[in-house]
Amino acid sequence: MKKKVIAYGRVEKPVLEDLQRKYDVKFFKGINPKIDEAFLEHLKESEGIIGLDLEVDKKLLAQAPMLKIVSNVSVGYNNLDIEELTKRKVMATNTPGVLTDTVADTIFGLLIATARRIPELDYFVKSRKWNGELEPKHYGIDVHHKTVGIIGMGRIGQAIAQRAHHGFNMNVLYHSRSKKPEAEKNFSATYCSLNELLTNSDYVVLITPLTAQTRGLIGKREFQLMKQSAIFINGSRGDTVIEKDLIEALQTQEIAAAGLDVFQQEPVAFDNPLLEMKNVVTLPHVGSSTHETELKMSQLAAKNLEAGLNGNIPPTLINPIVLKRN
Ligand code: NAP
Repeated sequence: MKKKVIAYGRVEKPVLEDLQRKYDVKFFKGINPKIDEAFLEHLKESEGIIGLDLEVDKKLLAQAPMLKIVSNVSVGYNNLDIEELTKRKVMATNTPGVLTDTVADTIFGLLIATARRIPELDYFVKSRKWNGELEPKHYGIDVHHKTVGIIGMGRIGQAIAQRAHHGFNMNVLYHSRSKKPEAEKNFSATYCSLNELLTNSDYVVLITPLTAQTRGLIGKREFQLMKQSAIFINGSRGDTVIEKDLIEALQTQEIAAAGLDVFQQEPVAFDNPLLEMKNVVTLPHVGSSTHETELKMSQLAAKNLEAGLNGNIPPTLINPIVLKRN
């Protein structure tokens, strides 16, 4: 009998089709685990779950006695209760690395778009308002030779630093839990306390994972420390920022502008004040969303899933301690 698997959300078609040939895969476009009867029924006998963003908590796991592996199609895994998964000897995996350059491109694009007001000026041209000389009110702010402060100097943070240093001659400051000698050597990056970084950066880029320590990391106090001319870019997760404080900082001109790929509530509520602000550039959480990279992420997630189902070590296992417990 084929092993039962739940696939949901963004698993790319060729990968899903391949899994469907090998396993008894039930695919869900979206899941509400509280009320989705078909999902709960399949969950009882499923040995694997693959997809993006499902909240895998104690309650869900209590209903999945056969589960061997949860394979996230993302590098972030704040949707997974790792402690509970480990306790239950369930493997958890993510997709680091294959998306690093793509996310760094997105974040750098967002930074430039915000600084040079690209969406606003695109609208200005297309709405046929460009009928005379440009005025200073249309000008942007330089990116090259400015100071970028990167909070979270991991894989993606370093790929952003590479672009900033080698592509745009920027001065790179960074803050993370540990110092990164390679980044200091390769991108002339300087380690700072969070306060120093916030005070001295023209661009503040947030790209940490969402954890208990980073939830609400950037709020009122942090925006007050930033320059009034600072541009804030969030590519991490919406909950790393206290969004109401960001809105206030923009309204009171505590900071100049923001570029956001992530929000506290996704999709963003239509009445969110951020959507009314010209100095805010928004994206619908597309950091890794190119055709090439989405495929690579699905492929890696499927490799992880198959290894877990077959009792092997998945290439990017988050909780290796689970192996010792088996
Ligand atoms: P990574 O290599 O693990 O890097 C994370 C970095 O954050 C590390 O440098 C880590 O410091 C630092 N960090 C962790 N906790 C911190 C804290 N409390 N204070 C300061 N720094 C802290 O991960 P990655 O591959 O670069 O991905 C980072 C995150 O980006 C993901 O977890 C995800 O949330 C987000 N992401 C978003 C998108 C999108 O679509 N917008 C796409 C992909 C990823 P140490 O190295 O010192 O531990």
